[in-house]
Amino acid sequence: MIKVGITGGIGSGKTTVCKVFRVLGIPVFEADTTAKQLMNTDAELRKNLIGLFGTAVYQPDQTIDRKYLAGIVFTNPSLLAQLNELVHPVVRKAFEEWCLIQHSPYVLHEAAILFESGFYRMMDKTITVVTSEKQRIERVVKRDSLTVELVKQRMRNQWSDDEKIKLADFVIGNNDRELIIPQIVEIDKKIRAHG
Ligand code: ATP
Repeated sequence: MIKVGITGGIGSGKTTVCKVFRVLGIPVFEADTTAKQLMNTDAELRKNLIGLFGTAVYQPDQTIDRKYLAGIVFTNPSLLAQLNELVHPVVRKAFEEWCLIQHSPYVLHEAAILFESGFYRMMDKTITVVTSEKQRIERVVKRDSLTVELVKQRMRNQWSDDEKIKLADFVIGNNDRELIIPQIVEIDKKIRAHG
């Protein structure tokens, strides 16, 4: 099974691009969504998160308080790194188990920090979605009702596009005047041929 990692900065359009791959029959593992779910369901991870952040990291209904967590880690790189160290092995295991039950020429692993986390080393191929900072800010402010400053703060925790492009096998441009479907169809063809 060929494993393809797909990433891109906040608001670059990763999820939108993945929707098109799904239409082409490619299963997508959403690493960030899975990580959030596992923070609620994995007993060992819950214990470790409480050890690191205190009981306030869980809401009264016992689900993770993402706003509280984001407020802490996005201004504290050391805590962000420690959070990632706890979450990544659990997500990796979930991905490996998920791969075993897929039946397709290849699978996509969608993650916001594929390169930063080192996860890309587990992948056979990687794709980076690239969109100008200005457009990403506009799109995220509109989607999540965040302030421009909060979006910029999150961007500072991610690598620049240039760094990601250097490591990526494929780049998809997703600025307003770029058409993503022809780019995706071309990449899909190449990956299928590779397999
Ligand atoms: P995040 O890392 O924050 O989860 P993402 O990279 O997955 O973001 P998306 O959620 O796919 O990005 O896209 C961000 C927003 O921009 C969404 O509201 C999406 O609908 C919109 N968007 C994505 N691509 C385009 C496009 N080509 N034209 C217009 N809007 C777009």
